[in-house]
Amino acid sequence: MATLAVLNCAQVVTLQGPARPRTGAELRQLAIVEDGALLARNGRIAAVGTRREIEASIPPGARVIDAGGRIVLPGFVDAHTHPVFAGNRADEFALRAEGAGYEEIAAAGGGIRSTVRKTRAATEDELWRAAARYEGWFLRNGTTTVEAKSGYGLSVEDELKMLRVIRRLNESGPLEYVPTFLGAHEVPDEYRGRPQEYVALVMEEMLPRVASEKLASYCDVFCEPRVFNVDDSRRILRRARELGFGLRVHADQLGLSQGAQLAAELGAATADHLEHTDAAGIEALHAAGVQPVLLPGSVYALGLRTYPAARAMIAAGLAIVLATDFNPGSSPTPSLPMVLSLACTQMRLSPAEAIAAATINAAYSLGRGGETGSLEAGKRADFVIHDCSDYRELACFFGIEHPWMVVTRGVTAFEREAHRGDA
Ligand SMILES: [Zn+2]
Repeated sequence: MATLAVLNCAQVVTLQGPARPRTGAELRQLAIVEDGALLARNGRIAAVGTRREIEASIPPGARVIDAGGRIVLPGFVDAHTHPVFAGNRADEFALRAEGAGYEEIAAAGGGIRSTVRKTRAATEDELWRAAARYEGWFLRNGTTTVEAKSGYGLSVEDELKMLRVIRRLNESGPLEYVPTFLGAHEVPDEYRGRPQEYVALVMEEMLPRVASEKLASYCDVFCEPRVFNVDDSRRILRRARELGFGLRVHADQLGLSQGAQLAAELGAATADHLEHTDAAGIEALHAAGVQPVLLPGSVYALGLRTYPAARAMIAAGLAIVLATDFNPGSSPTPSLPMVLSLACTQMRLSPAEAIAAATINAAYSLGRGGETGSLEAGKRADFVIHDCSDYRELACFFGIEHPWMVVTRGVTAFEREAHRGDA
């Protein structure tokens, strides 16, 4: 395979550092090379350094990209998404704008259950086509790896259908997908009033099938009193752990429900949302080494006010992660730059902390920290040339697509069309 060199970068934001997720003051250390350059070979990063160092080692015949004084970052790693679904919920968005509450809409058969009805009715090909379109959205926003959950099927065959779509997406395209089984996302309509029977279906039929077909790396549960309480969540996650899955938990989103403590008790990789987690929950996560995945896009899109206590989590030594929670209802954005903006304005992170949370820490939360999330020799050549001259602009200018070129495994996955305003 070809050698690729990127020269003339105002900043190469490498995030080089210890081979583990970053905490405390480390979150601000992005290891930036000014006037930097990068060399990739066979889809892997071969070297990162100053322009002078890299120029001297470019072999004849290499592809050379002039970044034009822009900046280079690792591709974003989005560690919490729901990217496979049919239809959307723009109708509910309009209802919420007029004052309807999310739980009120859910109780009337909307919310997740409405997406379940549409997703069940869709074929695997239809779901693949819809998700391939969203894949383009992720890439255009600089994301090169996503965690992808099932959870809109809620029957054995429909959950398997979703996971097969994720496998097909992963095998054929430029975006890497890390699959998560989320059969316990909601109790489906046909099990209303009989949640224990649905929990048994998840544990006794779905999880073993997903494991035997090797369709997911992680298992997640929506742990909320109205959906799956702590006891049911524990039973499902323990069964998943026995079958070899890593664990993730939707916890404390709509209220304080001991979900963070459950994630800690089970040694989960992550506890996600955490809008209502208290000091005891934060301490439990720290003691167990669980990474918090914070999803400010869902707070924003639901018009809520309570963002997770990110500063307290950093002060407690947690290796925070930022993700989009991309889904058709509560967080309809694939944009990690938008999430960086929210993290800085609503949760008081610095731009540097937010970037570390959306790259290297996110990669570690998915067991991919040795492969992606920073620009270091030996890792996959997953990087983005952003059309700015300073990394802080990524969080400052919001609502635009910063990437000028996106490269995954050393191959161009997205390139912006030229405009007369370009340098
Ligand atoms: Zn979610």
